[in-house]
Amino acid sequence: MRTRIHHIVFTPGATGEDHLSFIADAEVQVDGNRIVYAGEAAAAPRFEAEETIDGDGCLCMPGLVNLHTHTPMTFLRGAGEDMVLDDWLHKAIFPLEKQWDEELIRTATDLGCMEMLRFGTTAFNDMYFFTDIMAQAVRQNGMRAMLGHGIVDFDESCKDMVEGVEMAEKWNHAANDRIRFSLAPHSEGATTPKLLTKVVETAKRLGLPIHIHVSETEFDVKGCWRRRGVTPPAYLEQLGVLDLPVIAAHCVWCDERDIKIFYKHGVTIAHNPISNLKIASGVAPIAKMLKAGCKVALGTDGVASNNNLNLWEEIKLMPLLQKGITLNPTVVTPAQTLAAATVEGAKALGYDDLGLLQPGYLADLILLNLNTPNMTPATDLESNLIYAAQGSDVRLTMVDGKVLYHDGLFTTLNPDELLQKAREGSKEMHRRLERGGVTNA
Ligand SMILES: [Zn+2]
Repeated sequence: MRTRIHHIVFTPGATGEDHLSFIADAEVQVDGNRIVYAGEAAAAPRFEAEETIDGDGCLCMPGLVNLHTHTPMTFLRGAGEDMVLDDWLHKAIFPLEKQWDEELIRTATDLGCMEMLRFGTTAFNDMYFFTDIMAQAVRQNGMRAMLGHGIVDFDESCKDMVEGVEMAEKWNHAANDRIRFSLAPHSEGATTPKLLTKVVETAKRLGLPIHIHVSETEFDVKGCWRRRGVTPPAYLEQLGVLDLPVIAAHCVWCDERDIKIFYKHGVTIAHNPISNLKIASGVAPIAKMLKAGCKVALGTDGVASNNNLNLWEEIKLMPLLQKGITLNPTVVTPAQTLAAATVEGAKALGYDDLGLLQPGYLADLILLNLNTPNMTPATDLESNLIYAAQGSDVRLTMVDGKVLYHDGLFTTLNPDELLQKAREGSKEMHRRLERGGVTNA
């Protein structure tokens, strides 16, 4: 499909400059899944479009990348509210997670994808179970995703790794390369050194990145000191994990030495400010990390600790929290924040042609309504984008050159049917739990 989007305000995204740049009357041309032109309407070359989208004065910008989530946890929205982490996991989350089956996972994944598309997220990085079903959902609903089977292994058997490797071999680069896979050992505390060593060997052999939770809570870090005699980042460095491309989720409890380790190895920190606040894990030292030259991207984490997949909330909170804890209003700029929500995530997923709107880049883009009370006046559009925009301002979401959401309509998902199935499915999980049934163990 050849698509022209005109009557738009345009930003190429966070290109590395101090400030975001905008063009008032612009046009974007998409051929297949690639952008072929993005810039001033007056300078646009002739283009025979099969589909023309009137942007109606919206801002055309790169789609958001959610760099850490557990998508099917949409069904666990509201489970175990206001509990301490250990109780939350063992009394609320794990018992419900034992009730999953393939059909429920499929619906819960589609529900999460629908929510992300509605709020302008075009790609996500996920760690969960039933990744075969999740990949089938993503293949059909049109999103871009990196999936990883969560590997939890407290004994030395490493048997939980088998499925992760099998799924990666089956699905990596599937669906026109919209689907990629990582190896996803859950965390230092939920794995053994033997397992992590095997993960490193296998990831090297298969060319896969690693997705892992790192230093999420003070408890995690104290436990790592006790078990390994070092911090989690130092431990991962010792085992060679950081020699691979790594997405490290959370990184809340990190000291200067940890930050140096992240910088040295080019680790991407997936920052989940809302989840970290909700579970009372703390606030990651993102301003320090950015100052040290670390790569930082944004994630929502699973819905059970958020309670939604609307990345605009993280976009606003990331700079605010850093200003609050450093008592310095100059830290974390709008450009750094938008980079964390788009191009840094895209790079961490292994794409060097995603996250900016430039010729040759993949056509993952959104249209954001500027004609709303909260976006008026646009005296400073880049600050509006970070501090005033709402997820519900997104009017169109395109992934890989295909429109998946436009003004309330989804092209690959049926919202009425899906919401009904999701309500029933979630009830069914709770019924199974009450009956004491365990279906996936
Ligand atoms: Zn997580």
